[in-house]
Amino acid sequence: MKLTTQTAEVIIIGGGIMGASLAYHLAKRGCTDVLVLEKSESFGTGSTGKATGGFRTQFSTEINIQLSLLSLEKLKLFHSEIGIDSGYSPQGYLFLIEDEEKLNKIRAVRQFQIQCGLSDVVELSVSEIHKLQPFIDLNNIIGGVFCGSDGFINPMNILQGYTKKAKELGARFLQKCDCQSFEVLNNKIVTVSTSLGVFFAESFVNACGPWAADISKKAGLDLQVAPLKRQVAVLQEIDLLPSTLPMTIFLSDGFHFRVRNRQLLLLRSTIPETSNLFDTTVESNWLKTTHEIAKKRIPNLKHSTIDIMASWAGLYEMSPDNHAILGKSKLDNFYYINGSSGHGAMHSPALGQLLSEEILDGKASTINIHPLRPSRFDEGEPNLDLHLL
Ligand SMILES: Cc1cc2nc3c(=O)[nH]c(=O)nc-3n(C[C@H](O)[C@H](O)[C@H](O)COP(=O)(O)OP(=O)(O)OC[C@H]3O[C@@H](n4cnc5c(N)ncnc54)[C@H](O)[C@@H]3O)c2cc1C
Repeated sequence: MKLTTQTAEVIIIGGGIMGASLAYHLAKRGCTDVLVLEKSESFGTGSTGKATGGFRTQFSTEINIQLSLLSLEKLKLFHSEIGIDSGYSPQGYLFLIEDEEKLNKIRAVRQFQIQCGLSDVVELSVSEIHKLQPFIDLNNIIGGVFCGSDGFINPMNILQGYTKKAKELGARFLQKCDCQSFEVLNNKIVTVSTSLGVFFAESFVNACGPWAADISKKAGLDLQVAPLKRQVAVLQEIDLLPSTLPMTIFLSDGFHFRVRNRQLLLLRSTIPETSNLFDTTVESNWLKTTHEIAKKRIPNLKHSTIDIMASWAGLYEMSPDNHAILGKSKLDNFYYINGSSGHGAMHSPALGQLLSEEILDGKASTINIHPLRPSRFDEGEPNLDLHLL
């Protein structure tokens, strides 16, 4: 494409689910002169295309619960508003507990969730777990919690839906546009220089997912967002387990699984083998150990095989307190929609709306987003999470 000079009211850097959601919410509010700049050949090739599509309200901080509840409300209306299926399927999230101490902590979290307006989380006995999830070995399990409105979404459908609707309203999306440097004057970004030319705007937004720190550095800012590799093992066989099962998570080590498109996906968080933070190769040791763990816990998998080619790895965009970083940076016209720490697909409907309010009205009104302010780390006030859920 020819090098060009262009202007927009708001430039969003990054065409993942966050960039798309924000573009739509700005355009919906009448700010249609929005330009999304994406370095890849197509949209969603970053973390969004790698997400497994879990959706949960079961968090242990008020702000994350509020983000989920707002997103849930928006997901239920997604088809009528956007015209595309968000894939929201309320099959539930089932957390399994193996020790007494954790069970007591989870009970305290449940009380907290109820206070935060999350009414449909229930504690389950082992026999109730068996009815809901009859395929796991329950020998070490002493209880669990379940929320029926949690479940699954289709992150790429959400991205494509928001993109399509934002375009219909007038927003523009450019791919193969690598943002390389900024001109900053009087504490404001004036232009961004890209592989496709120089772009002027009144406001700029960092929606670069795991690459967010890099783009902020180009504007002279230190944003504490780091990539973290997450791997997904895919089993070769189809229909090993029914597709109606909930997301099932073992709280002891975070091993979890779901059925997607009739195939079983296995996940387990580990420290990556390589020091290259952006590495996304699937580790053969990780595949082997994860499969062994799965076979012990899900007896039906005894004779299953891993589909190495179909397995994949992507990057979470981690913030220091595992919460999104949302709002104005230290520059007067540069905003962050970053750091969702692995919950970005599910929270993108809420975060896009909230940042559009902040940009257009100077303050988000639907939810108090003070806990997500970028300055909280400098102020020594990160969100305190029990890290149980
Ligand atoms: C294996 C895995 C499983 C996951 N499962 C879930 C889940 O179940 N539920 C959930 O809610 N979340 C999940 N996530 C997290 C979720 O995918 C992310 O939180 C979300 O996609 C972040 O969206 P984003 O738009 O911020 O980032 P991205 O989708 O990464 O988009 C950022 C975009 O910025 C572009 N970019 C970067 N630098 C530049 C530049 N210089 N110029 C122009 N463009 C640039 C990139 O190319 C990219 O397209 C998972 C993630 C992984 C890896």
